[in-house]
Amino acid sequence: MSQTIKILPQSLANKIAAGEVIQRPASAVKELIENSIDANSNSIQIIIKDGGSSLIHVIDDGRGMSKEDASIAFHRHATSKISVYEDLECITTLGFRGEALASIASVSQVEMRTRMKQLEIGTKVKIEGGSILEISDDTFPGGTSIQVRNLFYNTPARRNFLKSINTEYRHIYDVVERVALSYPELSLKFIANDDIILNLRPSPIQERISEIFGNKLTQTLIYFEEKNELIELSGFLGRPDYSRKGKAQQYLFLNKRFVVNRNLSHAVYQAYEHLLEKGNFPLFILYLSIDPRKVDVNVHPSKMEVKFENESSIYRAVLSVIRKSLSSQNLIPSVQIEDNISSTRSKASTPNIEQTDWKQLIQPDKIIGQMGSKFEDERSIKLKFESEAINQMEIETQIEKKTIWQVHNKYIIKIVSDGIMIIDQHAAHERILYEKARARFTQEGKESQQLLFPQTIQLSPGDTTIVKQLYSDLERLGFTIKFFGNSTVIVDGVPPEIKPGEESTILQEIISLFKEDEQQIRIEPKEKLAKSFACKAAIKAGDPLSDNEMKSLIEQLFNTEIPYVCPHGRPVSLKLSLTELDKRFSRT
Ligand code: ADP
Ligand code: MG
Repeated sequence: MSQTIKILPQSLANKIAAGEVIQRPASAVKELIENSIDANSNSIQIIIKDGGSSLIHVIDDGRGMSKEDASIAFHRHATSKISVYEDLECITTLGFRGEALASIASVSQVEMRTRMKQLEIGTKVKIEGGSILEISDDTFPGGTSIQVRNLFYNTPARRNFLKSINTEYRHIYDVVERVALSYPELSLKFIANDDIILNLRPSPIQERISEIFGNKLTQTLIYFEEKNELIELSGFLGRPDYSRKGKAQQYLFLNKRFVVNRNLSHAVYQAYEHLLEKGNFPLFILYLSIDPRKVDVNVHPSKMEVKFENESSIYRAVLSVIRKSLSSQNLIPSVQIEDNISSTRSKASTPNIEQTDWKQLIQPDKIIGQMGSKFEDERSIKLKFESEAINQMEIETQIEKKTIWQVHNKYIIKIVSDGIMIIDQHAAHERILYEKARARFTQEGKESQQLLFPQTIQLSPGDTTIVKQLYSDLERLGFTIKFFGNSTVIVDGVPPEIKPGEESTILQEIISLFKEDEQQIRIEPKEKLAKSFACKAAIKAGDPLSDNEMKSLIEQLFNTEIPYVCPHGRPVSLKLSLTELDKRFSRT
């Protein structure tokens, strides 16, 4: 009988395993850096050539290895990090599988030099395609240096599979960047093709972030930290007006390990809900610490996927911490006038103001002159009625005190301590009503305006179904509705914000907007109803407002949770600071 099943030779088994652990040069870089970190290094240098395909060299000042350890480090499942099953339940090192060095060595030419500082002599190991060529004494100063040449030289299929040098370089950069972001206490140097790409000293996290993302962006980030029994979460959140299309620039570190977890990312997006335009994603850098016993990192060879013991409580914790941090911020975008506004600002979520408008607006004499005359007219009539006796001085102080104007029956301009603010009256009212509606869904008691003359509305069968479906939510919102026959409803009461005379139109508009949105089935009916109500009951562009109405609108706006965007994600207000104006008029 012939035997067909054979045990693979170790070297072949390693090559196969290598395919899982080392998919590309960046994976080798990641594994080597992780080993340096696990060896308690303070300083790590990474040198690569040709996107890592000809050379990857990682040098650290960590604990180094004895000769005995150095000789077996390249064996598969050789690890100093775990020894019994229980260790696997509580992993505190980055490595633990004992596969990386074996995998790397099986598909490249490696030279390792290492020395434990307390030992006189170090060790050099040369290994090629998994076969040890040399183990000798060495004079390495302390720590470990691993040089990996010609990765995948003996697995042509994989070598051919590599992308361009540039792409491989980008992947390596990403790996180094993530380490830089999670270990600000490390000194890191990254050299690619003889260019120094990063040269970072140990520094506080804020500084580290600004070295990586630049000062300007870093200044716009919102820092937060929170702690409860379950998690410790800190990090940096991008302001919504700096969000961008695509998902780049999102970092989640779990116990200092860069991980990808859809659920947690989703929790973050959820917290940004209504702050962002569709398709835009915020920049975030999150540091999450959880008891390592409650996390399983042994899900995938790359160790980038994780499983949590109680994922849904962690989801909720992350969501609430981030929501809280965002809503405690003043998220009003300030307008930075650039010389080329229309070409540099293309996102709709970013305040986009035609330069010509600003030119008109920021000629102070002209604008104040115009406003002065318009309002003087109104005022003089009013004043005459109020009191003929007010003297010139008093009139002047009154004019001086005026800090709020409506322009084109559409925008409100308000003077604030450090500049001016421009508010879209419809969007502002929408935000206010939307939050009111949401509050009403949960609060006790009902706020409703009884109608003197109940209105009878004839509905189509489809609309009747919607009204029936939404009945209890409409009631909570403030409507009092009675069904009469099959498709007739009588409206007895409405939310107090609805203008007299518009009761039945607004109810019908709410229904039709609700229908329009029907495709977005993921949105809860309550949420849709709140949005439709806010949109339809809000004052519109074109509605004239009195000073008092404007004041009350602004006051209410700044009492909302998120005064920065309307429920559809459009901006509500912009600020133009004095600094910006001074810059514009070359007053420096
Ligand atoms: P793992 O990191 O999963 O233990 P590796 O194959 O990456 O497996 O490394 C094998 C062993 O070699 C490690 O457990 C560690 O003891 C040793 N080692 C690897 N790199 C270094 C280093 N830079 N400094 C000190 N020891 C190292
Ligand atoms: Mg390792």
